Amino acid sequence: MLWQPSLPEKYLKAAPDELAAAITARRAELGDQLVILGHHYQTDEIIRHADYTGDSLKLSQIAARLAKERPEGRPVKWVVFCGVHFMAESADMLTPESVEVILPDLSAGCSMADMAQYDDTVEAWNALHAELNRQHGGKWPGRIIPVTYVNSSAAIKAFVGQHGGACCTSSNADLVFEWAIKGGEDLSDQVTKVLFLPDQHLGRNTAARYGLEVRSETCLYDPRLARKGEPLGGSTPEQLAAAKVILWAGHCSVHKLFRPEHCNQIRADNAANPGRPPTTIIVHPECAKEVVDKSDLAGSTEFIIKTLAKAPPGSRWAIGTETHLVNRLCREAAQRGVQARILSDCQCLCTTMYRIDQPHLLWVLDNLAGAFSKDGKSPKVVNAIKVHPQVRELALQALDRMLSLARPAPTPVD
Ligand code: SF4
Repeated sequence: MLWQPSLPEKYLKAAPDELAAAITARRAELGDQLVILGHHYQTDEIIRHADYTGDSLKLSQIAARLAKERPEGRPVKWVVFCGVHFMAESADMLTPESVEVILPDLSAGCSMADMAQYDDTVEAWNALHAELNRQHGGKWPGRIIPVTYVNSSAAIKAFVGQHGGACCTSSNADLVFEWAIKGGEDLSDQVTKVLFLPDQHLGRNTAARYGLEVRSETCLYDPRLARKGEPLGGSTPEQLAAAKVILWAGHCSVHKLFRPEHCNQIRADNAANPGRPPTTIIVHPECAKEVVDKSDLAGSTEFIIKTLAKAPPGSRWAIGTETHLVNRLCREAAQRGVQARILSDCQCLCTTMYRIDQPHLLWVLDNLAGAFSKDGKSPKVVNAIKVHPQVRELALQALDRMLSLARPAPTPVD
């Protein structure tokens, strides 16, 4: 986690309405050169200031398109990304050098992305190959293709790009997984194993949807166990030999809070109320497989949003994803006579995303407006996120491979 300096006291003492008014005024003053992006999991108080909302990749692509398409004289100079660190890195990689990407609070990281550190990944890569070579008399006649969820650092994306792999999102994980397990860009019939980083649950759910038997055809690599002296991260040589997919032992601290028991409670409630439309359970694939297996539908954030938008009046839903998004979906659904609730009553909020608040947003905008400069008008960029050019080049290879498999429809931006 990066260190975020404390804000001047006036930001911390100001009332929410006062902050909102000041942000709106700064927003107007800075005009077209500023774009504010709000991830779906942000609080309402941040979302109301966002020019665009969406998931991490969609927002980065919007920033890239705005930077490219804005006519001369109205260039985008600053993208304030109200999300977490890896998202701002992606936006920086996809926008031209002239655009500064700003994360309002540097301590807004992602616990899942932090579970895959570059050094651990290199160590795992070497250990896995060493063991497979050992099992085959010194030269394994196969290859490992790495796939990383976009919820990972730029360094991990670069590692994956360097080794012939690709990124994936929760929307296109099936497509990228199939590409990888069939050999990726190398169409020879060598044996292929996939190393799926950093989310074991998305990896396991995707492998199961592809038709793999997860008990025997996947194994788990836990870097914490590797650090304690278990060279295969807790898996046995036999498990590695049999596995078609090696899952990295990372997870989302929000989605892991949904449990199979929560699905059981919904089912029991349905059974106890036969005269009422049953509650449909819809969850994100970052939830554990046991939860996905007990749900009716599983899919990306965009899939959940679109499904709820199409839900007929009178229908009932239990949603397994981040609480701020669920609260907004429930409010919108209620206006159409749709009853929706969160799958569990636990505090399923992304605490790192939650660090982005109005005081930090106003502080970065005040700096951009020059409020802290000597002359009171020279812009100052604070909390810029910059990916090293070498890392960027390799990471873009992983992103480009994904986009060449599943190029999304152009997103309207103006
Ligand atoms: S919801 Fe989970 S995966 Fe998304 S940013 Fe928060 S910790 Fe990371």
